[in-house]
Amino acid sequence: MNSSVAHVGIAVTSITEALSFYRDVLGLAPSQPELADGATIVSLHFGPVDVELLEPSDPDSPVAKFLAKRGPGIHHICYRVADLDRTLAQCKTAGYRVIDETPRRGAGGRRIAFLHPKSTNGILLELTE
Ligand code: ZN
Repeated sequence: MNSSVAHVGIAVTSITEALSFYRDVLGLAPSQPELADGATIVSLHFGPVDVELLEPSDPDSPVAKFLAKRGPGIHHICYRVADLDRTLAQCKTAGYRVIDETPRRGAGGRRIAFLHPKSTNGILLELTE
């Protein structure tokens, strides 16, 4: 099994403000912004792991609701697994609560599926391959 952390998603109120740390202090080159799940997403590469800054573009989006409830912070962690279909099926068989019953396309066209934080120790988990 070849698993790794793919990225960490951080909910921010303003990508422009957040980039003053990542771009101006750390000297990282942000990706072009893209839209997914009602949020604008900018990625920063920390070796093989990305940090995704998530700024809501839709007030009803999951990221907007997260910000309203908890404020800025870590929104989710994405794990890379060898076989997404197989891992998702195993999660369901084992009784884990899934948000996506089947894999769907996320940012960058990657196949992803989310698991509910209620069954993963309070962390919204995204799986990709
Ligand atoms: Zn993500």
